[in-house]
Amino acid sequence: AKHLGGNTFQFFTDNLQACTVERLQLENQLRKGIEQGQLEVFYQPKLCLADDSINSAEALVRWRRPEQGLVSPGDFIGLAEETGLIGAIGEFVLRKACQQARDWQRQGLADLRVSVNISVHQLRKGNLTSLVRQVLDETGLPARLLELELTESQLLDNVENVITTFRQLRELGVKLAIDDFGTGYSSLSYLKRFPVDYVKIDQTFIRDLSVGGEDAAITRAIIAMAHSLELKVVAEGVETQAQMDFLKSQQCDEVQGYLISRPVEAQVFVELLKEQAAT
Ligand code: C2E
Ligand code: CA
Ligand code: CA
Ligand code: CA
Repeated sequence: AKHLGGNTFQFFTDNLQACTVERLQLENQLRKGIEQGQLEVFYQPKLCLADDSINSAEALVRWRRPEQGLVSPGDFIGLAEETGLIGAIGEFVLRKACQQARDWQRQGLADLRVSVNISVHQLRKGNLTSLVRQVLDETGLPARLLELELTESQLLDNVENVITTFRQLRELGVKLAIDDFGTGYSSLSYLKRFPVDYVKIDQTFIRDLSVGGEDAAITRAIIAMAHSLELKVVAEGVETQAQMDFLKSQQCDEVQGYLISRPVEAQVFVELLKEQAAT
């Protein structure tokens, strides 16, 4: 294998350089894309199980590239976080989602809560609270209709800072959620330290829900524990009626997933709300 060493190394170096160039190109294109208004916000409904109504929507960013078409956040959020572009993206999504929710409220369609994903990088910058206050002022959206989602693993990264910012945000009246719950290895008692309103059970537990199975036991435990701390529970990635029935039987508060709807453009989301108003 020794004589192959040189070639292997050569190949590796070329490959690495290609990757770096590609990343730089992507970063430049993303920066340009942000400036040129190529970002869009899609909305995915959350269904309140107490009355089967859509009472909330998660805002999810999409990048519409001129040639490649619609790109999912999984393909650029990581890069955006590494390069700091997440600040501009996050601010865009926050403003857009608040404007949209306020429009729907004005049109008398719904008092919809809108949730926006926040990256820990936005927390580190330290001006998140003032940005949120400014956007709420600007758009006129009542603070109680805005929810911010932060993943469990990001919370654990920066505990003191996160708690301080969460307290400020809650003072504004904004709702807070722990996203992807169950994947961050935090102990349940740890949850008490974070001033939040919602826990979102990660989709990996919902995917393999089968009555009597391990994930069913975990899901049941998360719901019971969250309720004992007076937190509401949202289950993500609900794709089947069986999953929905199980979650209902466990008094889960809200469900989100393809069974109800995929994330859709604002104009399509409005149709869902109108349909609901008509039935
Ligand atoms: P997330 O916050 O956990 O969002 C849920 C993801 O699950 C979304 O993927 C959604 O389309 C997908 N999903 C919803 N229901 C189902 C289902 O029934 N089955 C399956 N298989 N998937 C479902 P999406 O839109 O591709 O977003 C991926 C991730 O990108 C999000 O995960 C979030 O972490 C991040 N993200 C999206 N928008 C933003 C944003 O504006 N800011 C930040 N910081 N992150 C964002
Ligand atoms: Ca989320
Ligand atoms: Ca999630
Ligand atoms: Ca996730």
